[in-house]
Amino acid sequence: MLMPPFNLHHPETVEEACELASTFLANDESFDWVAGGTDLLPNYKWHINVKKHVISLANIKGIDTISMHEIGAMARLGALADSEDVHPLIASAASKVASFLIRNNATLGGNICLDTRCFWFNQSEDWRRSIDWCHKEDCGTGSDCRVIPNQNTLCVATYQGDIAPSLMVLEGLIHIIGPSGQRQVPVNEFFKLDGITRNVLESGEFVLKVTFPEGVEHRVGSYKKLRVRESWDFPEAGVASSWIVGQPSSLRIASTALESVPRYHQSEIDAIEEVFSSDLVGSLSKAIMKSIKPVNNTALPPRYRKSMVRVLTKRSLHEILGDKA
Ligand SMILES: Cc1cc2nc3c(=O)[nH]c(=O)nc-3n(C[C@H](O)[C@H](O)[C@H](O)COP(=O)(O)OP(=O)(O)OC[C@H]3O[C@@H](n4cnc5c(N)ncnc54)[C@H](O)[C@@H]3O)c2cc1C
Ligand code: SF4
Repeated sequence: MLMPPFNLHHPETVEEACELASTFLANDESFDWVAGGTDLLPNYKWHINVKKHVISLANIKGIDTISMHEIGAMARLGALADSEDVHPLIASAASKVASFLIRNNATLGGNICLDTRCFWFNQSEDWRRSIDWCHKEDCGTGSDCRVIPNQNTLCVATYQGDIAPSLMVLEGLIHIIGPSGQRQVPVNEFFKLDGITRNVLESGEFVLKVTFPEGVEHRVGSYKKLRVRESWDFPEAGVASSWIVGQPSSLRIASTALESVPRYHQSEIDAIEEVFSSDLVGSLSKAIMKSIKPVNNTALPPRYRKSMVRVLTKRSLHEILGDKA
């Protein structure tokens, strides 16, 4: 697998990065952002959606902050996993991503903006050609989706990032910057239910940082992950939860690796009208399991992943309640 050629650009400030993006957009030239490159570059080696230009965020100073209330997009996952300054839930989720080597390069921004995955798509170019492509990259053939056939309007590739659900249950706010200025979006409104569009970023925009509200340090959290090999695999399902002990209405639950987006589960919490306690764990876990609809495009069968959501939710909720195993 040879890396295809592309032009790599290294802006040193946020303003320079925005100017570069603006110039490419004005000239109608395609480009990708790259941070740690642990997702983008393997995809490029498989000749997946290769762009002519790549803008690296690696040389921009000051966007790798690590603290309880602010994490920069370029913060490395290895540093987050080892940090005593971030919320323990973020450190725990970061420590479960891939392997030690990958975490040393991988970043928070790249993890949030991770491309969606599908076993009909994350394959070599020859393999993809042999099935006449698919809707996510149809090479002008108008191919259908191979997972939900007879349609070429929606891609249901799975979002398999580990950290987004923890950001959601800690009320994270994503700060976005681009040629048109800055804006902020709650993490639970950042993702879009389409495996190609993925999120609300407009052309030329990138993630600058994630901030958390005052009081986040009082939240107790837990993230549970299902994967094939503990050593480095992507999540096949993941559930995060958090609450402020003694404040049942503060409960937040989110899941990942089950659909095209990580999902925040406020409506399932609201539907259970009783006060959150150990007695409610069973019914809440069942409601979360019922709400998700995994499809057949990752390593493990969707029925198994769905049933494991109940187990992971139970384990996560019992942990934040401090229940004995
Ligand atoms: C073997 C292997 C195992 C893996 N296992 C896991 C796992 O268990 N869990 C998991 O979550 N991930 C896993 N990954 C995926 C990946 O390593 C991580 O998600 C990592 O955090 C991606 O970060 P990065 O900085 O390397 O992203 P990059 O590869 O640099 O970028 C990823 C995507 O995000 C975009 N991007 C990057 N930064 C920004 C930004 N600031 N703003 C806007 N867009 C941006 C890029 O354009 C690209 O589309 C695995 C990867 C490999 C190769
Ligand atoms: S979900 Fe469908 S369109 Fe998307 S990558 Fe898989 S086969 Fe292609």
